[in-house]
Amino acid sequence: MNLIEHFINGKTAKGSSKKTSKVFNPATGEQTSEVNLASKADVDLAVQKAKQAFTDWGRKPPAQRARIIFKFKELIEKNLDEITKLIVSEHGKVYEDAKGSLTRGLEVVEFACGIPHLLKGEFAENVGTDVDSWSIRQPLGVCAGITPFNFPAMVPMWMFPISIACGNTFILKPSEKDPSCSIKLAQLFKEAGLPDGVFNVVNGDKEAVDALLTNKDVAAISFVGSTPIAKYIYENAAKNEKRVQALGGAKNHCVVMPDCDLDQAVNGLMGAAYGSAGERCMAQSVAVAVGKVGDQLVSELSKKVESLKVGSGSDKSSEMGPLITKEHLEKVKGYVDLGIKEGAKLVVDGRNIKLQGFEKGFFIGGCLFDHVEKNMRIYKEEIFGPVLSVVRVKDFKSAVDLVNDHELGNGTSIYTRDGDVGRTFANKIKIGMVGINIPIPVPMAFHSFGGWKRSLFGDQHMHGSEGVRFYTKLKTITSRWPSGLRSNPEFVMPTMK
Ligand code: NAD
Repeated sequence: MNLIEHFINGKTAKGSSKKTSKVFNPATGEQTSEVNLASKADVDLAVQKAKQAFTDWGRKPPAQRARIIFKFKELIEKNLDEITKLIVSEHGKVYEDAKGSLTRGLEVVEFACGIPHLLKGEFAENVGTDVDSWSIRQPLGVCAGITPFNFPAMVPMWMFPISIACGNTFILKPSEKDPSCSIKLAQLFKEAGLPDGVFNVVNGDKEAVDALLTNKDVAAISFVGSTPIAKYIYENAAKNEKRVQALGGAKNHCVVMPDCDLDQAVNGLMGAAYGSAGERCMAQSVAVAVGKVGDQLVSELSKKVESLKVGSGSDKSSEMGPLITKEHLEKVKGYVDLGIKEGAKLVVDGRNIKLQGFEKGFFIGGCLFDHVEKNMRIYKEEIFGPVLSVVRVKDFKSAVDLVNDHELGNGTSIYTRDGDVGRTFANKIKIGMVGINIPIPVPMAFHSFGGWKRSLFGDQHMHGSEGVRFYTKLKTITSRWPSGLRSNPEFVMPTMK
């Protein structure tokens, strides 16, 4: 059995713990690897190595750090196919989608190459007579990232390239369900010339996470995952005096106005609801049908959902792959059962799909519910599978109220031809990322990614300028040269005269 280890101080390491977890190929349902789960001692060792490496890395000129990151970018490009196949084999999503997600991660690496420019401070001459003042941003020290299973390359790449570019060292604790990508990325970063100890990967579960949360040498924690765990990370990181950003779950609404181009809306919804089998934090899992558009929307959607090509991620003709684990498959099926019990109308039922040659795979077909109501659990809770719920509302205002009343606030979209409606929606909606005739409004690397409400605990979004702010602390220096010194002691607050 293939054993996946940690990557500490520039090399793979077994760690001291005997604990392991199983890694599956979700398409075949077969176990492919065993992954080591780190003990507290393993995590503490990684932190110690990262702390030692920070002494030199934090002092290295940003332009020199950028050159190593640029080489890393080239190596990812060279290995794009291999990393994509790792994503497909452990996550299950289809090849082109996996490649797309890796490319979105690569774009953050490209952004991080501009770090000399991004770290430029501010200077003000003569803030008082002969007094100058300037602000600089300095690295924090050892930073840690804890990431979910659904984007094994992209989500870690939202964090560590920028953190490391800023001069920090980094410990990544990826999802134990698909850990191989992180190890590969660490090996490539080393090949690019990254000094040992600057980027470390510890595989693990709650024990490893708690060890990061309580280690006094970890300065900052970035987390992406489900809302209950995000809240736990936020509270415990803060309790242990760490800077923290904790991104949580989602229930994204796509508002379909009666004046929209319906083909565009239906196609947009298909990709956004069923792409990656709905295992995306930006998946649109609720379609809000406004006014008279409901019947036609459901009729067009149902034809397309029924003809979805479900299959192995490595089959180029598949549009949708399997779910991550058998347990998750059961959970998603359970939500479909629940929706029926709650009184929603199941228009397309994907629960009984059978794929020849992949009988043990974790597959479910696309499911479509109509007449879903606000009080139902299938509406309120994140299902994280290929299940789209249509909620019908009478007008635009009711659609806005519905979206704003939901406790989660990651992403949302509206389909309309009316610029006024689009603008009002963007202005009034209480959501972090908004699309107008765009189904999945994931911000590019040079903007920042993050939700509102219970989809993000903390102040700063990820990557872009918010990422640089999160991974640096501000220092402001006020200076006067001796020739300009005042001679007498002053006991009052200095002010501009
Ligand atoms: P998860 O919360 O179960 O796990 C995320 C990470 O936390 C993993 O590394 C896991 O090992 C660790 N973890 C799990 N249980 C823990 C515990 N009790 N204590 C400490 N650590 C624990 O999430 P997941 O199932 O891997 O990923 C799916 C979730 O992630 C969905 O809710 C999805 O919406 C969310 N997500 C959010 C974003 C975003 O940007 N907001 C992006 C991707 C995924």
